[in-house]
Parts: sequence; structure tokens; C-alpha cells
Amino acid sequence: MVAFMEDVVAYIKSFGLSGTLIRKQIISCLWGDGIALTQKEIEERLPGETDRVTLYRTLRLFTEKGVIHKIVIDEDTRKYKLAGSFRKSDHAHFHCIKCNKLLCMPQLNVDLNGLPAGFRYQSAKLVVEGICDFCSQKQM
Ligand SMILES: [Zn+2]
Ligand SMILES: [Zn+2]
Repeated sequence: MVAFMEDVVAYIKSFGLSGTLIRKQIISCLWGDGIALTQKEIEERLPGETDRVTLYRTLRLFTEKGVIHKIVIDEDTRKYKLAGSFRKSDHAHFHCIKCNKLLCMPQLNVDLNGLPAGFRYQSAKLVVEGICDFCSQKQM
């Protein structure tokens, strides 16, 4: 999906942020259903030379403001995706092992009834791995 600049700017502004060049460039990279990239992948896709510190700070700001979701795949891989209509990121994500898509799955609940007595829940980072609908259809 090609990002239209006015949509990108409107999206950034809906979080109360101004659309600076780097912000617009990052959101454009992540635009599209299921697209999730690591910081390195975003860096490679940005046009021209990008200051790594600025990129890091912008991703942190976006995560704090709920513009993007930061998803921990494993200890070496953290991916960022647009939050879209899900402003909070404390839900499960589905990771397709075939096409690498990441999708927000707030409908999947972590069963907190299994916690031992006296334990209190704070947050859960659940990544469900599997094959998405598109890739399953291709296999048939
Ligand atoms: Zn897939
Ligand atoms: Zn999400």
C-alpha cells in the first residue's frame, strides 16, 4: 500500500504531534496492514542519511504516545507497527512465520485466572506465531 502524505500527516496529528520530516518518513515506512519493521529495517528504508539517535528518539516518542506498537519477537528482534485503531499496545500480536506480517489481536486474552494466589498482573507481551489467512490459502 502506498502511503498518501496527507493521510500520514493526519495520522500523526491525531496523536497531538506535529508532522516533522522524520516522523512522516517513519510512518510512511510502516504504512499498510500487517507491516512491521525493526529499527534497522526502518533505517534502511528511510531516504538519505538519517541520524540514528533521531530515529531512536522518534521511535521511542511514537511508542510512548501510542502511535506505534513495539513488539518483542525474541531477545534480538523488536518490531514496530502502526497502532492503527488500537491505541494501547497491551494486547497479543499474531506473527505469520511465512510472510512475517504482524497483526494486532486484542481479542486474544491472556488467561489471568491461572496466576497463583497473591500474584498481581501488570502487563503481558504475547506473540502468537502461526500462518495468516493469506498464507494458508496459498498452501492449498
Ligand atoms: Zn502470512
Ligand atoms: Zn498492536
